[in-house]
Amino acid sequence: MIITLDKQCTDPQKEAIEAVAREAGLEVRPIVGVNETVLGLVGEFNGRYEDMLEHLQAMPGVAGVMKVTKPYKLAGRSFHPNDTIVEVGNVKIGDGSLMHIAGPCAVESEEQVRSIAHLVHDAGAHILRGGAYKPRTSPYSFDGLKEDGLKILRDIGAEVGMPTVTEVMDTRDVPIVSEHADMLQVGARNMKNFSLLQEVGQTGMPVLLKRGSDATIQDFLMSAEHVLSRRNGTPNVVLCERGITGFDNETRNQIDMSSIPVLHRLTHLPVVIDPSHATGVREYVGPMALAGVAAGADGIHVEVHNKPEEALCDGKQSLLPDQYIELVGRMRTVHQAVRGVYARG
Ligand code: PEP
Ligand code: MN
Repeated sequence: MIITLDKQCTDPQKEAIEAVAREAGLEVRPIVGVNETVLGLVGEFNGRYEDMLEHLQAMPGVAGVMKVTKPYKLAGRSFHPNDTIVEVGNVKIGDGSLMHIAGPCAVESEEQVRSIAHLVHDAGAHILRGGAYKPRTSPYSFDGLKEDGLKILRDIGAEVGMPTVTEVMDTRDVPIVSEHADMLQVGARNMKNFSLLQEVGQTGMPVLLKRGSDATIQDFLMSAEHVLSRRNGTPNVVLCERGITGFDNETRNQIDMSSIPVLHRLTHLPVVIDPSHATGVREYVGPMALAGVAAGADGIHVEVHNKPEEALCDGKQSLLPDQYIELVGRMRTVHQAVRGVYARG
């Protein structure tokens, strides 16, 4: 429910309105705009909704009351019509520019991260990625260097001047990962791990939330809602589309390009696409990255490796250095061509 306050609403009137909402078990989130102040009411309503709506409508200081039918209140545009710009270090995501996240799938060694970091930085990438905790299908596969990996990523990020993003898979690791990274990634497999989402939400740090391959857009936004419900006011969550399950085995997943404009309409959060994990095949990363830019994505997330044949994880989908450099150039051209064409919202 959204209450628009009268321009003449006094503080005691506002407090009385808030008290009614709180008594009904709802949390009040004030949004102060240039022209009006609205109160967003979130939570499970514990009484008769229609009665409360009528009661609030009749209260002094209330200009109007509107029902919000979407279950994602904080992620949706009703409470927050303006686009959110998420800041990670000095990098802005969602400000109209095209943001690039790049790096290896996994942190394998200092030397490996250093060569890739310099390369992607020089190619124009803004945020350095690399997994220290890897979700692997087989328990016998390399699953990351853990804390040592976090430190390598942090140090090399500082060396090249890039903020870092890395995955956190377990609630128990949230403190250590938040200590070393600038942005926390919640992977596709954990998109519905609600305890993890809440724990990550509690940190207040920027989050890169990947869409689960079996998740609808509403599921995806509800997961963002779990993160947002744990933080006070800063909606710094970036959504990442990385493909949904299809019936064809030629690619790993089907990248849902239409999710980009759909999400832009439904949510104020920025949208990034990850053609690497979506396709799982190097040859298809470039075309899908360019299609994502053309569809209005706010950023592109790509895996790059200097020796993909020796990569401990996802070598098959990792771009070679020269391919990444060339792709960034092409993405720039496409972005110039579509910039401003699709308003978010
Ligand atoms: C990753 O980015 O390293 C990763 C494992 O991604 P996803 O959760 O999309 O599979
Ligand atoms: Mn990977």
